Amino acid sequence: MMLGTNVSNLSTTATNAAAQGMSIIVPLYNEAAGLASLHQRIGNVANTLRRRYGLACEVVYVDDGSSDATLLIARGLLADALDIQLVSLSRNFGKEAALMAGLDHARRGAVLFMDGDGQHSPDLVEQLVTHWIDGGYDVVYTAKAHRDNETFLRRFAVHGFYSLINWGARQKIPEDAGDFRLLSPRAVAALRQLPERNRFFKGLASWIGFRQIRVDYEPAPRTHGVTTFSVSRLLGLSIEGLTSFSLAPLRFASLLGVLLASGAFLFGLSIVWEVWTTGKQVPGYPSLMVGLMTIGSVQLIMIGIVGEYIGKILSELKARPIYFVAEHSEKSFEAEKAAPAGEMTVAG
Ligand code: UDP
Ligand code: MG
Repeated sequence: MMLGTNVSNLSTTATNAAAQGMSIIVPLYNEAAGLASLHQRIGNVANTLRRRYGLACEVVYVDDGSSDATLLIARGLLADALDIQLVSLSRNFGKEAALMAGLDHARRGAVLFMDGDGQHSPDLVEQLVTHWIDGGYDVVYTAKAHRDNETFLRRFAVHGFYSLINWGARQKIPEDAGDFRLLSPRAVAALRQLPERNRFFKGLASWIGFRQIRVDYEPAPRTHGVTTFSVSRLLGLSIEGLTSFSLAPLRFASLLGVLLASGAFLFGLSIVWEVWTTGKQVPGYPSLMVGLMTIGSVQLIMIGIVGEYIGKILSELKARPIYFVAEHSEKSFEAEKAAPAGEMTVAG
């Protein structure tokens, strides 16, 4: 029995890359306002790639239970430059689930993840593809060139998050890498092999290894609307990411326990020493309370951390589907050319 997975047969060379094509996965949550122009820009990129590499592309729009007209507009998009798949989830499942749904439906070899709000500029796609086809890289990820426009507190929090998640890790997750990422066919195959339900894509894309390259970019401002990731949601996502990906918090808990215990032991020794040498009892109500409260709160925090992991085990054990597709339709590029009426074939 082989306990690893061999994906070497999917390696791309410049000659067979084009034959495998590329799926562009775009999660959409209330992106109605910018969708038409985004589709236009993706179409332009697809045309460029076809001309330059003979690369056939498809775009997979995943409507993550939008409450605005996103689905309506997505249904009306024309496959005038590339194939379109439209996957509509039964409710809002969150971005990671939407990406998973996209990955499950992607049919081409390589996969490109891109936000639906215009912040991940389609103009950069050609450069990413060049790194894959000409450079032979498997994971081409983009990272914010700088964080100058973010508050000190946020930068500090981000730094803390990555220090913790990368603590003792063999394969470090690059700090400030975004979700705008291209994966080669064998990297996609590797990503699909991972059996867990709680997926932290940013971590997993780095964990699988292969040849990775970083591309710096400046995220464009949102073309419309506001970000769906508030501070509390980001915090939730960080805890999700940490606990589904890394055991560092548990290790941190143990280490803190050891530190506190050693502190308490030394403190105890010093009291004994004091009684022994001076002969007087140490009056200690306040210090007792402080010690008690510290130990109590640290214990609660640690139980909370352990609880997070138990929650993860429970959700993996229940093995619920991570999304439901309420509607799936596709339009093919060639068919559109033959019958430009924009008819849709509903496929389940
Ligand atoms: N998104 C999603 N489901 C959600 C929230 C967001 O599919 O529950 C999508 C959203 O449509 C966008 C991408 O995820 O394409 C990133 O969202 P957003 O721009 O709000 O996040 P930010 O860029 O601020 O990190
Ligand atoms: Mg955004």
